[in-house]
Parts: sequence; C-alpha cells; structure tokens
Amino acid sequence: MLKVLKNAELFAPEYLGKKDLLIASEKIVEISETITINGCKALEIVDAKNFILVPGFIDSHAHIIGGGGEGGFDSRIPEIDIAQIIESGVTTVVGCLGTDGFTRCLKSLVAKAKGLSKQGVNTKVFTGSYQVPVKTITDSIENDLILIDPVIGVGEIALADHRSSAPTINELSKIAAAARVGGMISGKCGIVNIHLGQGTHSIDMLLEVVNSSMIPVTQFLPTHANRSEQVFEQCVKFCHQGGYIDFTASTGSISASKALYLALKDGLNNKKLTFSSDAQGSLPVFDKNGKCISVTVASIKSLHSEFKNAVLKYDISLDNALRAITSNPATILGLQHTGKIALNHYADILLLDKDSLDICAVMSKGKWLKSI
Ligand code: ZN
Repeated sequence: MLKVLKNAELFAPEYLGKKDLLIASEKIVEISETITINGCKALEIVDAKNFILVPGFIDSHAHIIGGGGEGGFDSRIPEIDIAQIIESGVTTVVGCLGTDGFTRCLKSLVAKAKGLSKQGVNTKVFTGSYQVPVKTITDSIENDLILIDPVIGVGEIALADHRSSAPTINELSKIAAAARVGGMISGKCGIVNIHLGQGTHSIDMLLEVVNSSMIPVTQFLPTHANRSEQVFEQCVKFCHQGGYIDFTASTGSISASKALYLALKDGLNNKKLTFSSDAQGSLPVFDKNGKCISVTVASIKSLHSEFKNAVLKYDISLDNALRAITSNPATILGLQHTGKIALNHYADILLLDKDSLDICAVMSKGKWLKSI
C-alpha cells in the first residue's frame, strides 16, 4: 500500500518547507516538491495542505502497567490504554516500573509492551526497578538487554528520595557498568534512567560515578529535572558537563515548557534536552511529616500540552520544542529510523493544526491510528 501526503508544512524536526511525502508500507521512501503516481490502484492520497507534519512523539518514561501505590493498595494506578497513547500523539513509548517494584513485575511490563506494539505503538521497556538491588527478568541486567527484545535500558532508579533504597556510589556504578556492557553487546543504548528525588545530591552522585569510573556521563538519563528550582540548577550543571536531562511534563514546580525555555536561555545544548510524561505514575502529595495525603494520576497527554506551551506560551521555536519529544529521545535511546521525517525512516507521523498545534491525525509505521 502506498500513501502520498501532499502539500504539508514539514518539520523534520527542522523546517523542510512545503513538501509531498511518499510512504510505502512502514517507511518514508520519498520527500520532494511534488510526487505524482499514475495508474496505481493501491494508492491513498491525502491533501495535508492545512496541516503541519511532524514526527510522532516519543515518550521515554511512562508507567504503562500503572504506577503508584504510595497511598496504600487503593491508590494503585491502572495500566495505560492504547487510546490514551494515540490521542496524545505518541508513536513510541518506553515503559518502566515505579515506586512499587514489588507487586508490579517486569514480566507484566514486557507483556504489556508487546501488546501495545501489536496494537500499533512501538513500545520498549527499561528493566530494573526503583529500588536497588534492581529486579531483573533473567539473572542480570546484561542478559535482560541482550536476550529480551523490548528492553533498551535500566530504570527508573530512585536517588535522593525518601522512597528510594538509598543506593551507594558503588551500587550505582555497577548498575551503569552492567547497562553499558549489555547495551554494547546487544547494540542497544543501555541507558540508565534515574529518578531524581527532592534531595539535591543525586546529580553529585551521578558525577561521582562518572569521575570514579570510565563510564561516560551520557550513560545516564536523569528525569524529573524540573521537580524544583534546586534540582533544576543541579541538572543545568550536569548538562553543561555533557549529560542529558529530561523534564517531566505532568508535574514539577517548574513546568517542562518553562524548564526548556530556561535551559535554552542558559545556552544548554538543544540536543541534550527531552520531555517525558511519567504517564500513569502517581502524583502523591505528602504532608510535612511525610504522610501521603492525596494521589492524582500523571497523564500521557501532558507531553503534547507542554510541547504546545513551549511554542505558544514560551515562544520556543517549533523545531526546538519538537526535538525534546522526537529526535532527541530517539538518539539518546538508540531508536533506529524513528524520531525524524527522513528517507528510510518509519512513517511515524502526526498532522497538527497550524494554529492550535492540536493533533488531527496519527500515523505509526505507515498505518493511520487516527485519521483526518
Ligand atoms: Zn520517577
């Protein structure tokens, strides 16, 4: 089946102008001023002249089997539904366990990932758990990466948080080393996704691992970097030293869009910054004694909302805002042939309204999941 999308304004994420796009099966096979195909019956032509065409969003941190539980068993968050992912324009999602790595398990996570992939959304997972020593599916992080297809890294591992297991530098170094070797052998990124808690020493811990081992700073993707002003400041320092940082779209005392604005203003590399949703994670509110007093649910929709805020409220260029949820996570997570509008890349595509940036159509690997 061939599809031609005509006359769309293309952002790859960089602006490519008004172009036609030819899609054959799962991939983009031609991008040019005008594409004309005659005499082909298996051809769908879509006039996209009223839309902006962008890569499908990549969400690098979502609790796809549900997170939470900090408020007791009745505060467990349900697993995500495919419709929520599609409505949010996400065509690639990475699932992880959360605070409760005891009653939730990695086998369920992998099964859910396989289910979502079958339903049309490319889904990967992180092995490991919030607490250390990390849970694994096989006997080791290395073997999980090497032998289990959807596993691309380890995380989220909690640091500087009252819910963490207070891992030591030595424990963190061993996790990062295992992820690195497992990633090298399997040809995957082997990234270590770090949950940054309220404490301000977590970035210092990561830098100590880097300084005391030969592990590069890019082995880590710390998330919740916009949790507080203090954590944000630490993350700016980390990024200036070459590290990646991820802003959580669903929460944080600084919004993800504002954090991106401040980071770019500070001169941070626009290829090192990402947004993720923390979808289906719990957003617990603790009183001054550390007692959980309420729990709300983080939504995958926040990724798109914060992208819109970045452009419409903070005047960040469309390509820079897109990078945080398309090409940057694709590169950091080692995801091949996605996150960009380019030849031989998967046709993971969104059509957005030119003014509101609302999502009008979603295509994943050449198939419409939501059509205009
Ligand atoms: Zn977290």
